Amino acid sequence: MAWDRVLAEIAAAVSPHRGEGTVADYIPALAAVDPMKFGLAIALGNGDMHCLGDADECFSIQSISKVFTLSMALRNVGERLWERVGREPSGSAFNSIVQLESERGKPRNPLINAGAIVVTDHLVDQVGPDAMIAELIERLRRLSGDSSVHIDQAVAESEARAGSRNRALAHFMQSFGNLHNPVEETLAAYFSHCAIAMTCRQLARAALFLAFDGCDPTSGERMVTGESCRRVNAVMMSCGHYDNSGDFAYRIGLPGKSGVGGGILVVAPRRGSIAVWSPGLNQAGTSTVGSIALETLVRATGWSVFI
Ligand code: GLN
Repeated sequence: MAWDRVLAEIAAAVSPHRGEGTVADYIPALAAVDPMKFGLAIALGNGDMHCLGDADECFSIQSISKVFTLSMALRNVGERLWERVGREPSGSAFNSIVQLESERGKPRNPLINAGAIVVTDHLVDQVGPDAMIAELIERLRRLSGDSSVHIDQAVAESEARAGSRNRALAHFMQSFGNLHNPVEETLAAYFSHCAIAMTCRQLARAALFLAFDGCDPTSGERMVTGESCRRVNAVMMSCGHYDNSGDFAYRIGLPGKSGVGGGILVVAPRRGSIAVWSPGLNQAGTSTVGSIALETLVRATGWSVFI
């Protein structure tokens, strides 16, 4: 692949759009991020990385963390997970409560807030909130080969302060018996994993196991079974962008997960993983410029899973 040409095409495609979209403003730490930022990192199975722009600047990964907690839960909890959370697209906003009432407290999928809170609750069940977060951070550091991966405590604290909607979701699920730990314990872990700060380079590197059947291709370490890996990718393809998931699959054709910090992580099976970051979001909370970059990348590389 002529990577210089691919990166130049992406840079040219995003340039007239830089700054577009709306930066998340539900907490001050996210509202303060410069909307002109743009970074991209492509990690390949042979260990090569190709980067563009602000690829080494930390951002709040937010809901992208749900991919890593889902992977951990499939590994630690297994198929029992699906008794408490579904795997269908919701067609609703990331923090929606509407379906939870008619579906008796069982969230549609693990990538909406309610579903991710249940996944976190499962992990907290096993070892408690502190050890669960410590295990997650340790894994991300190992996978990214970078010990600087950390939780931005200011973001975690503001998430907790502004967390009424997530508290409502958690209490509602608890009333249906679908939360096993005290709401504040599970949410403390949820807010912490949403507040993880990483760079595009670290994130692309950390997700490489999802492109290689569950095994990190550079270390050879198995993170999840091949079957679990395919399942995480399937859920990302159908549910990774909330009510924007269909449009994302149509335009980009790769499993992906967005976060309201402006990051998007995508997996190109057997090829590599890509992290892009640009803070301006569309109405569903997916990075506007990030999506343009990925659309261009897929066109230039032919990496859609549908080819
Ligand atoms: N921390 C955010 C929340 O729980 C995550 C949402 C997102 O990135 N889509 O509301």
